[in-house]
Amino acid sequence: MLKTFKYRLYPNRKQRESLTATLDVCRHLYNDALQERRDAWKTCRTSVTFNMQSAQLPACKDADMPMRSVYSQVLQDVLHRVDKTYKAFFRRGNGFPRFKGKGWFDSFTYPQLGFSVSGSQLSLSKIGNVKIKLHRPIAGDVKTLTLKNENGKWYACFSCVVDVEPLPENDSVVGIDVGLESFAVTSDAEIIDNPRWYRAAQKVLRRKQRHVSRCTKRSSGWRRACRFVANLHRHVFNQRNDFQHKVSREFVNNYGFIAVEDLNVKGLAGGMLAKSVHDAAWSSFIAKLSYKAESADRLLVKVDARRTSQQCPCGAPVPKKLWDRKHHCTVCGLHTTRDHASALEILRRGLRLRTSMPAIAGMALEAPSFSYGA
Ligand SMILES: [Zn+2]
Repeated sequence: MLKTFKYRLYPNRKQRESLTATLDVCRHLYNDALQERRDAWKTCRTSVTFNMQSAQLPACKDADMPMRSVYSQVLQDVLHRVDKTYKAFFRRGNGFPRFKGKGWFDSFTYPQLGFSVSGSQLSLSKIGNVKIKLHRPIAGDVKTLTLKNENGKWYACFSCVVDVEPLPENDSVVGIDVGLESFAVTSDAEIIDNPRWYRAAQKVLRRKQRHVSRCTKRSSGWRRACRFVANLHRHVFNQRNDFQHKVSREFVNNYGFIAVEDLNVKGLAGGMLAKSVHDAAWSSFIAKLSYKAESADRLLVKVDARRTSQQCPCGAPVPKKLWDRKHHCTVCGLHTTRDHASALEILRRGLRLRTSMPAIAGMALEAPSFSYGA
């Protein structure tokens, strides 16, 4: 399985300049490659392929000085990105891929070669030896290296193939529901609260955001406030990540089978902004749960969770309004909270998927409503 290891970089002034210059060259190439494909499609309905664009690279390099200072595989990777977004556009049919303005292109990739690490130095072809802080060892087989700029700070992200390390077998099963007031509720009736810092930071963010909007645009005060907000966002993001790593680790350690809601099935039902923020947090949590489950050889099942709040795990319908916080089933007598009943129902649906699996074991892994780890 693939795993990403991310480290902070400390480039000197000159290296910082060449990193930024590389980013700029890549961004221009990205836009040009996109433009070429767009024009070809618009004017004569023909498709420009990756191979066609890649074959032009040497000629482009001859004509363009800055391009010569960028490692050729990095440029190839840019064309791959264009190819990917373009294919996704044709598959999904939603909006034409966007041109990237300054600030909207924040990374470039060494797809195979051109980089190596020794000690606290990351050696990058065409850029030099950059200081790297290896706060934990890189594990597995390094495949690619992506250099990323986040709020002016540079990071190295190594994508590595790592072995699955199965945990001892475990028969415990659990269903997890997104809590409305808490972070999550499990089928064991355990409530996982949102950490206290979350609300506190949210409050500060709101206040500071108002401050930003009151400042004169592009003034020094405005700039300072923007930087503060960006840093706070970053801080909250890191804290949230930590929290999600801890929670997902516990689930994977304690349960052999985990059922969660599949966000993709729900479609565009919700629509509220607060809900979408919530969904974003939830999907990044599921991503962490997924790869931990995969590397520990646990089973994670994503279920269609539509109407889980309207049904009792016994099968009887128990209609509820949004504000009904209690679940009371007149058929089986289950009396509990709304979220707990939903978690039980998610677990029931997950287990049903599992039992229906063996007959079509190979295919079940492909089914959209089911995923084995990934
Ligand atoms: Zn019931």
